[in-house]
Amino acid sequence: MERTRRFGHPGMVVWFTGLSGAGKTTLATQFERILFDQGRAAYLLDGDILRTGLCQDLGFSIIDRRENVRRAGEVARVLADTGFIVLAAFISPFALERDQIRAKMPPGRFVEVYVNTPVETCEQRDVKGLYRKARANLIPDFTGISSPYEPPVDPELKFRTDQESIEQCLIRLQEFIENRLRAGR
Ligand code: ADP
Repeated sequence: MERTRRFGHPGMVVWFTGLSGAGKTTLATQFERILFDQGRAAYLLDGDILRTGLCQDLGFSIIDRRENVRRAGEVARVLADTGFIVLAAFISPFALERDQIRAKMPPGRFVEVYVNTPVETCEQRDVKGLYRKARANLIPDFTGISSPYEPPVDPELKFRTDQESIEQCLIRLQEFIENRLRAGR
């Protein structure tokens, strides 16, 4: 409560899930900038950052991926508890771990954002050249190609980034989060 008063808003977790190249990092990074410029306490928690530190012992098997997301969720939860708006960008392919994080957060403080981009579009973008490698069988268990992705059943927000521009997505995101922040103040 005191933390909410100090920051002027409650902490929360905004969880971006979707295929590699869907647009999670792009949206979360630009949204972090918007919130930061508004004087909000916001922090982008990106999969790659944890993979080189806290989760460096984990690979990409299904068990390791589940553990990776579980740890990410715990970090996000702690940061949100300190009062931060955490923008968590993780493929997080399985519904179970995403739902477990939601269940541990106070009501309304977990916002699931499904960055729903068709795998064909992600593959065309191939931002990191990973799809090319996956097609060449250089990456086993690649989400969307050789490893499953379970779409969220009832996410708070959904973006079709092949149909909506980055700016349009950000406007909708901002509107939704603004309402949630106001409701929790
Ligand atoms: P992810 O973090 O999901 O792996 P990235 O954010 O790294 O994906 O890459 C997404 C790519 O798609 C970027 O090159 C971005 O410019 C592009 N893109 C096109 N339209 C959108 C949109 N509406 N939202 C987000 N990204 C988009």
